[in-house]
Amino acid sequence: MSGGETVLVTGGSGYIGGWCVASLLSQGYVVRATVRDLAKEAAVRASLSKITDPGNRLSFYAANLTSDDGWDAAVDGCDYVLHVASPLGVADPKDPNDLIVPAREGAKRAVGAAIKAGVKRVVLTSSVAATGKGRDFAGDWTSDETVWTDPTEPQVSAYAQSKTLAERAAWELIHSASTKTTLATVNPALVLGPVTSGDFSDSVQVVERLLSGRVPGIPRLGFNVVDVRDVADLHIRAMTDAHAAGERFIAAGQFAWMADIASLLRERLGPAAAKVPTRKVPNFVIRLAGLFDKDLGSVTPSLGLKHDYSSDKAQRILGWKPRPMEETILDCANSLIANGVV
Ligand code: NAP
Repeated sequence: MSGGETVLVTGGSGYIGGWCVASLLSQGYVVRATVRDLAKEAAVRASLSKITDPGNRLSFYAANLTSDDGWDAAVDGCDYVLHVASPLGVADPKDPNDLIVPAREGAKRAVGAAIKAGVKRVVLTSSVAATGKGRDFAGDWTSDETVWTDPTEPQVSAYAQSKTLAERAAWELIHSASTKTTLATVNPALVLGPVTSGDFSDSVQVVERLLSGRVPGIPRLGFNVVDVRDVADLHIRAMTDAHAAGERFIAAGQFAWMADIASLLRERLGPAAAKVPTRKVPNFVIRLAGLFDKDLGSVTPSLGLKHDYSSDKAQRILGWKPRPMEETILDCANSLIANGVV
């Protein structure tokens, strides 16, 4: 348990940030959450109260990744920082800097404020997108924390560039500062699991689009799925375990093709999964459609490829254990239904 230590979670209004806040509160920590706009506080509290009772241990601070305002005040007096906030986007923006600048400069602001305040450790939420093997390893591959994505490769998406450059900037800042503050990163794969409101992360669209029938067929795309509750758990392990200092940890469960996820939904949800498509769409059709549809265009480089990520390190060093994928997918689907999304 926490002994009443204080943790700042940036991006408390987000999917992973919200579950980190809830898990910390459940373990007795005092939690501060940053949001861009304090008007979001009531909605975030309502959403969190479905998971845990915050009592009087939760407070909110305003901070934007793109501005210096508010960061020092939010961090001052904290024991730890979980820097979770970063912009997401399924489709590549016209200008990659729309994602890169807030991600990288925001990481520098959060880590810089944490160093200045002398917190014990910062855990930065990076992504497996920062651990990809890329073009040099054509075809299927398995990657781990020793690998860094090359952000200059042409097929690396703006989002993957933003995560790689933000993580790099955080490590450079820690290594160049004369500080006792340590850094660890958690690099999640595709995060699914229960949502607590109708406002959810882009990653959940994989299940939401299948359930609502918003996809005409199933592309040959696959991902390592990881449960949002397990991602929050890994953040807290990386925050407190002495062996986590200076380390990256991939948070990834089992690899699954979208067709496997669709079959599971159909088999286990009965009539609620009536709109889940059965038809598989050939890769060339998706590539063609990707020329006109930005969402599809950003995923076509991964079509048909098994790009697998190993979480052996988190399991071995931190005793982390991802739950079975079936539980994650079904809890995600049922929560979307319960929140009236599908
Ligand atoms: P999310 O629900 O969209 O949350 C993103 C959070 O970042 C929100 O709280 C958002 O605040 C905040 N944010 C975005 N731009 C900001 C800005 N300019 N200033 C301040 N805050 C800003 O997404 P998520 O899935 O929880 O993602 C959280 C983190 O996990 C991100 O770093 C993401 O890259 C990483 N990640 C996610 C996945 C996944 O599959 N979901 C996988 C790997 C890594 P608002 O509420 O104000 O928009």
